Amino acid sequence: MFVIFGLDDAKPEITVSTFTNHCYHCNNTSKWHYVKHQTSFSLFFLPVFPVKTKYYYLCPICNHGDEISSNEYDRMTQQNYQR
Ligand SMILES: [Zn+2]
Repeated sequence: MFVIFGLDDAKPEITVSTFTNHCYHCNNTSKWHYVKHQTSFSLFFLPVFPVKTKYYYLCPICNHGDEISSNEYDRMTQQNYQR
């Protein structure tokens, strides 16, 4: 018997900000994206449980930006949905 396991990167969840932000990397002004990127332990190619989750606030044009905390991600995405 053999077992296939590993790490699986899920498709990132993207929430578009309601605010515009200027990117000094590509010199464009646009609505930046809040991105949740989750890596899960997988068994037979099926995700079983999350191993690590990272949150980013990124420019949608050049993907330059910063890593943010989960609290900050939750606060900013909830503000988006309340509008
Ligand atoms: Zn940019």
